[in-house]
Amino acid sequence: MHQTIQDGLEDFLADACDPLDRARIEGHLRQCVECRREVDTMKEMSSLFETLRSPEPPAPPIGFYAKVSARIEQQRSESFWTALLEPAFGKRLALASLLALAMLGTVLISRETEYATGPTPEMILAAEHDAPAPPMEPGQMLFTLASHRQ
Ligand SMILES: [Zn+2]
Repeated sequence: MHQTIQDGLEDFLADACDPLDRARIEGHLRQCVECRREVDTMKEMSSLFETLRSPEPPAPPIGFYAKVSARIEQQRSESFWTALLEPAFGKRLALASLLALAMLGTVLISRETEYATGPTPEMILAAEHDAPAPPMEPGQMLFTLASHRQ
């Protein structure tokens, strides 16, 4: 990422930067394939996270970004194998791991919800008498503490 657009990029991605910054960043993106890909990856990542968060599919990109993105897609399919050797591929791997983590987080949250409605306080107390308590997840620990207080 080039210093020229690094400042104000967060605002740019959030659609919150002032017109001068926007013009400066868009100007640089037009000339610089490297930064364009980077910004594209960031936008892709944030729209993927939006997809995970909301049941609706993300709105299709419009205007300037759609054109840029179509051009990048074209370049990507033309140079698929060389793309494997580029740093952008590493970013895709990082993106995949982030998504895996996000999904793991969702699984853990739903498991905690099961615990919260699952075992009764008696079951938890019995388990504590039987054996040394296994390491607990934070949610379960809170539940145990809460049930002791009743
Ligand atoms: Zn650049």
